Amino acid sequence: MVIQNIEHKGGLAGFLKSHGVYPTPQRLAIAEVMFECHQHLTADQLYDKVKVSTVVSVSRATVYNTMTLFSENGLVREIHADPTRVFYDSNTSRHHHFFNIDSGELIDFDADHYPAPPSTQLPDGTQLHSVDVVVRVRNNISTP
Ligand SMILES: [Zn+2]
Repeated sequence: MVIQNIEHKGGLAGFLKSHGVYPTPQRLAIAEVMFECHQHLTADQLYDKVKVSTVVSVSRATVYNTMTLFSENGLVREIHADPTRVFYDSNTSRHHHFFNIDSGELIDFDADHYPAPPSTQLPDGTQLHSVDVVVRVRNNISTP
C-alpha cells in the first residue's frame, strides 16, 4: 500500500511532502531504501543499507532522527517487539506481528485474528487509539 501511494503522489519527494516532511537529499536517500518494499528495519539496519545504496552522505544520527520524524508524521509505524531496539515498518496498514526471538525477524499477520476489544471493555473515559499485537515465537528445537 505504501508503494502504491508513492506512485500516485508523484514520487518519493511528493510522498514525503504529503506527510509534512520536507524532502532533503538525506531524507530522500533514507526513504528510497525504507519504502522500496514492505519491510521491518531497525535504524541500524537501515543505516547499513543506506550507506551502500547512495552517494549522499548520511550519518547514523541522521537516520535515527529521520526515522523519528517519519514515525511522528505517519510515514512508518514503530514496532516495539524487542526492548533493545525499535523496528520501523514501511507498511502502516492495520496488521499484527510474529516476532521470532531466535532470528530477530518480524512477520506480518492479519489483524482480524486479534480484533480490538469492544468499546464497552475500555477503561472509563477512554477511547480506542490502536491495537498492536506482538506474538513472540521461537524456532523448533530439532530432535535427533
Ligand atoms: Zn509489519
